[in-house]
Amino acid sequence: MGNQVEENLKIVKQQMERACQTSGRKIEDVKLLLATKTVPIEKLQMAIQAGETLFGENKAQELRDKFPLMQQYNQVEWHFIGHLQTNKVKDVVKYVTLIHSVDRLKLGQALHHQLVKENKTMDILLQINTSYEESKFGASPETALELVEQLSQFETLNVKGLMTIGKLNATNDETRHCFRLLKSIQTQIREKKFPLVEMNILSMGMSGDFKVAIEEGATIIRVGTSVFGQRYLPDSYYWNETAPQDD
Ligand SMILES: *Cc1c(COP(=O)(O)O)cnc(C)c1O
Repeated sequence: MGNQVEENLKIVKQQMERACQTSGRKIEDVKLLLATKTVPIEKLQMAIQAGETLFGENKAQELRDKFPLMQQYNQVEWHFIGHLQTNKVKDVVKYVTLIHSVDRLKLGQALHHQLVKENKTMDILLQINTSYEESKFGASPETALELVEQLSQFETLNVKGLMTIGKLNATNDETRHCFRLLKSIQTQIREKKFPLVEMNILSMGMSGDFKVAIEEGATIIRVGTSVFGQRYLPDSYYWNETAPQDD
């Protein structure tokens, strides 16, 4: 008998495979990132034992707490998926290989400044607010092209693609619209052929909508609840516009 995390992972994997089949995609082309906000380390260890290696955190503090406890495992990789304040940049670049949530020039500048100091580069995604909901972070679709061009000027930042949070508690058609919009922005950016900008990653889809996201071209899905169970903090704690803002 496996544990609950392992059982849940099996189900999610089956659903991923089915979504790949129905959309003619290869399962190797879709990565599963486990969103671990508020999730205790024991459950992360269960996921590792089940063969998972990719984890994402929303807050610098939680990342800093969990990172050392996970270092003993080979191949564990961390991404940052939450709203990033410029004064937390230093903590985050230390631990992660990809930041999904770059959504403004000021954050790009802060990252660049820190990375220059450390003589490092960082892979980033541009977060786009495809649902136009005020309570969510992300650049507006209309400013995406301009922002990519500005970010591409920083030689420490490698723009690898785009991320979005689909409209929540919405119909499949509404979320599908968000994901299609992200895909179309990817196409527009590719056509511009900005030097050093790659657009191969589409980070989209969560527990409620990852099947639709896979059908629409997601290359990374970010799943928490379906694997780890319900969280004790509401997502508004992480996403709301009343969250601490620095600009
Ligand atoms: C929490 C979170 C997820 C995972 O959400 P679930 O609905 O629990 O799967 C994905 N992406 C981001 C940015 C998150 O904050």
